Amino acid sequence: MKLILLGTTGFIPTDTAQTACYLLPEVGVLLDAGSGLYRLPAYLPTVPLDIYLSHAHADHTSGLDYLFAGYFLSDVKTSECPLNEETIAGFIGRANHSLAQTCIHADETTLAVVKPKYYELPFVWRTLQAQESLPGGGVLTHFWLENPTIGYRLDWPGHSLAYITDTIARPEAAYVTKIAGVDVLLHDCNVPDHLAALADVIGHGYLTAVAQVAARAQVKRLILIHHSTLDILNYTADLEHARQIFPLIEVGYDGMAVDF
Ligand SMILES: [Zn+2]
Repeated sequence: MKLILLGTTGFIPTDTAQTACYLLPEVGVLLDAGSGLYRLPAYLPTVPLDIYLSHAHADHTSGLDYLFAGYFLSDVKTSECPLNEETIAGFIGRANHSLAQTCIHADETTLAVVKPKYYELPFVWRTLQAQESLPGGGVLTHFWLENPTIGYRLDWPGHSLAYITDTIARPEAAYVTKIAGVDVLLHDCNVPDHLAALADVIGHGYLTAVAQVAARAQVKRLILIHHSTLDILNYTADLEHARQIFPLIEVGYDGMAVDF
């Protein structure tokens, strides 16, 4: 199973790091829809997208503005038909058709905030079900984190992934049992260890705590995401210590492709 990290920062995008967006191209699943969504045309799957939102904040939802352009550009790039004054209506129609087939899944609170913002777009809005079926015989489950934010776990026979963002990382937190043993854990890490108290205040993870979560959950691989764009919150110096707690830590970056 392939995973493409389209946006790995939080809060504010930069030239090299856009905000939260993670694509499973083979099954047409997008986890969050931050500004990284603009990278979608390079990877667009042929199946309609199912987008699962963790919460309503703009760094996880603002990319919905780019989805029409994503479908349009992908169609223009792959079509044998040239774009001109006679064909453009067809390209626009197909992009709108793709929007109308796009399902956005979220809890009721998130839907109440996001849906009115995008009322002009023909998305299909769905309240998260306890278990969602995924293409390829997979199942998606969700659970509440602090903040409040939704965490996700996706399981297929032989492949599993968990997505945890915008929450305080605590090895004793209830969500840790929900992500036990996954092949890949994408986990928010926003703050270096010496600012652990700040992490609690702003509702994010610091590196040692995230490593402790991964170790406790006995995941196979930890990929850090939702980095801060502020240099003073860079945690690179803490990685050596964190890898003594959980060795298989990777720092996620935009464009990173993961096989699991
Ligand atoms: Zn965020």
